[in-house]
Amino acid sequence: MATSDYYDSEEELDLSEDDLEFDLQDLHITSQDSEIEFLFKSLTSDVLWISIVEKADHVAAFIGMTRDECLVLLQHYDWREDKVLDDFLSLGDEIKVSKGLALSSKLRHSLPLHSLSRICAICCEQVDQMFHLEQCSHEYCVKCYTRYLSDKLRQQDSLVLCMEPSCSISVSLQDLKALDSNFPGKDHKPLYDIMISNIAKNYVESNPKLKWCPAPDCTGIVQFDGFSTYEIGTLKEYLDSHNLPIVTCPYSHSFCFACSYEDHDPIPCNIAKNWIRKSKDDSETANWIDINTKQCPKCDAVIEKNGGCNHMTCKKCAYQFCWICLQDWPLHGTAYYNCSRYDASAIKEMHQKQQTTKQSLKRYLHYYKFYISHELSAHQDNDLFRSIESRVQEMQQDLGISWIDCQFYRTAMKLLIKSRKVLKWSYALLYYCEVNNYVYIVETNQSFLSNSIEDLSHLFQLTDPKCIVRERLQFINLSNSMKKREAALVEIIHEGLKNQHLKVT
Ligand SMILES: [Zn+2]
Ligand SMILES: [Zn+2]
Ligand SMILES: [Zn+2]
Ligand SMILES: [Zn+2]
Ligand SMILES: [Zn+2]
Ligand SMILES: [Zn+2]
Repeated sequence: MATSDYYDSEEELDLSEDDLEFDLQDLHITSQDSEIEFLFKSLTSDVLWISIVEKADHVAAFIGMTRDECLVLLQHYDWREDKVLDDFLSLGDEIKVSKGLALSSKLRHSLPLHSLSRICAICCEQVDQMFHLEQCSHEYCVKCYTRYLSDKLRQQDSLVLCMEPSCSISVSLQDLKALDSNFPGKDHKPLYDIMISNIAKNYVESNPKLKWCPAPDCTGIVQFDGFSTYEIGTLKEYLDSHNLPIVTCPYSHSFCFACSYEDHDPIPCNIAKNWIRKSKDDSETANWIDINTKQCPKCDAVIEKNGGCNHMTCKKCAYQFCWICLQDWPLHGTAYYNCSRYDASAIKEMHQKQQTTKQSLKRYLHYYKFYISHELSAHQDNDLFRSIESRVQEMQQDLGISWIDCQFYRTAMKLLIKSRKVLKWSYALLYYCEVNNYVYIVETNQSFLSNSIEDLSHLFQLTDPKCIVRERLQFINLSNSMKKREAALVEIIHEGLKNQHLKVT
């Protein structure tokens, strides 16, 4: 286990100051100057639905239509109440035309839901239960209608039309309620519920102030509520002044509101995005590529050697070349064993080009190795975090400690997960930065933070509640020093990006 040195920003930074061309006094390592807050609310989908319904009811009260009708209308108007009202003032009931609503109640009919035995035009079976929408009279059997609607709804449609192709009437929530009660789904979600979540999806997607939480299967929503200062008006301005809108959903997942990826503080969205794309494309094959492939001398496509044959054909540009000397294959004639007779300088140049690619791949792998190992550790930390409550309960029961006295353990784990994230992303950033002295400062701070993280991680290996409680102070000290080092690294990176000491290539 590593050192127990405590953080002292000046002392640590002074160590290397002589070698640096940057004025470290300007770094404001601990300052919290002019932090502009990104204000937001976290909403559950139930709370969101309430506000959607309120909106529909509000419009309904003005134009004298039903909530269901207004839900359909609002979707046609991108949820712009003012536009609906404007159009209603000039068009009156005509507003319904081409919006999937029946013009007058005359079209409504009084056919009972259960009509007498009829033939369904789709399945051609004689059935007892026919179904039609409230606002039109096109009847099909309940089974066919249910299958049709669940297909449509599964495609996340929120404006579904009558099953009769020539009919433009929209399916309403009331229709789905009626259908659900006639054909109670045993193994599927009620159509009504699916429709509600589809409408909510439509609502969120039409409103740039709302974002779904990107965590798998999470239904939380975050609503953007402006900034803590009027100096900044738009999200773009906020991002341009080197801030990140990190938000938290109602289920405690934190993510970036701008790019909807996980919390990637301290690095900008575009770098995080490039890195993710790159690591998806490259990482699994990168090691292997290094050994088994070369680039096509013509188009630079990566080519793998397949078996022993040295006659290579590029799959992309069809260029034929020799694996050994990278020269044009036809030039070889049949004597390809004599590669060396070709122009030595051309061959050298060719090999240098290949070497450069390998160098950059090596550089990438270097940072990727750090990135991925912290990513994996973060997964383990998360697993541990999930089991933490039972451990805390043990501590409470076995040792008679209060919930509040166990708080140090939870807090330390939360801080550990956060610090690891910061460290992980900082490696991705450095891959894209020109190597200079400032990078050296970042690396120094990375290693300070990394040491703290490893120390604290090591402490979490303790499983005996008695030992954990005995080490309480150590948990607190280590997490405090880790937090300071994390803040220092974040600050240095923010400053570096802002003042372009870190030159992103
Ligand atoms: Zn049918
Ligand atoms: Zn119809
Ligand atoms: Zn979430
Ligand atoms: Zn982002
Ligand atoms: Zn090629
Ligand atoms: Zn050759």
